[in-house]
Amino acid sequence: MTLLSKCAFGWPASWWKNLYAINLTKGCEFDCGYCWAKDMAKRFPNMRPSSGEWDKPELASFCRDYKTDSFTALTEVLSTTTSPLTILLSATCDPYQDIARPLTQIALREVLAYRKWGGHPHHALILTKSPDVVKDLSLLKELDAEVGFTIVPSSPLGKAPTDAERLDALYSLQGFGIRTFISFEPWWPGVDVDALVEIMYEAWVVRDRRTRFILGSLNKNGRPVNPDFYRREWPKLKEWLDAQGLVEEQGQGTGNYWLKPELKKLLVAQRRKNVAASAIGGQMKGKIDGFLFTTSRAEILLTFPGGDGRRRELRISLVPHRTLTEADILEAIKGEMENLELIHKRLSIVKELLGTEVDLPDFLL
Ligand code: SF4
Repeated sequence: MTLLSKCAFGWPASWWKNLYAINLTKGCEFDCGYCWAKDMAKRFPNMRPSSGEWDKPELASFCRDYKTDSFTALTEVLSTTTSPLTILLSATCDPYQDIARPLTQIALREVLAYRKWGGHPHHALILTKSPDVVKDLSLLKELDAEVGFTIVPSSPLGKAPTDAERLDALYSLQGFGIRTFISFEPWWPGVDVDALVEIMYEAWVVRDRRTRFILGSLNKNGRPVNPDFYRREWPKLKEWLDAQGLVEEQGQGTGNYWLKPELKKLLVAQRRKNVAASAIGGQMKGKIDGFLFTTSRAEILLTFPGGDGRRRELRISLVPHRTLTEADILEAIKGEMENLELIHKRLSIVKELLGTEVDLPDFLL
């Protein structure tokens, strides 16, 4: 394991540029039921503690020779970067689990010392589940660090402090002027919007309007588990966010919340589906200028008036994980209708409703 790892979290670069993580341990004593790092460690042996047990963490090899007052390896790395970094503690472990905390403090002090010395103004970002982070308040203030808590209501319990303890710590840091964020990663399927709204209301409306939020789905093999849950609940949450004036981050750095890519893709597809549905009269079955377009889990059914005046029907099977384009539809119905000009006209409507870059399984299922 290298000391600084490029972080591919799907977090917005407009919030945190040049995001790199320091992962101080292999394994993590909190042992959360949904831990993605633990899953990754099953595939990548160099992420596993030598005991083979995730909840018995050990220091990463680059930490083993640290001294109580310096972290030489980190200073060396910091001095060789060509631009300021956002340094995240941590991505694949918790920086405030017992074994990691002394090193986290040393790492933060090194970043601070480097800045005071006149080096790049690296930004320190903390992501934790431990209220112990509050004990480093003065250091965090001096660093102007940003602190995030992962909050996952109703998730299977691991050994991490409870959501209530984390939120108390968050509110406490907010009270001392520390900028904070909450990562609802994953937004646990089954947790209704009210639970999230209650937390967001307290953190943002009541306490600190600089607070930012990250929302991510529970994924399996890179795709959301129970997509219908997110499709059903998201409009309610969006309505609340809009009513409060919270804005989605769009790349300018000024947004209040960020949807992780897997969730965003699912919801964008849903928005397109809603547009199509309402354009067809509020249902996924209706008449478009003499052209019926219906969907099912496995196929699109097109019905249309043939040149001889009789109705024709065409079923187009959907190929999972494949993008359906206008050309695909055209190819499928070619020869089925005499009036190609009419088909083109109708297809332009279908195209507008569908969008051509829509991944059909997300869009239609
Ligand atoms: S705190 Fe993070 S790294 Fe540790 S077990 Fe939980 S999810 Fe995994």
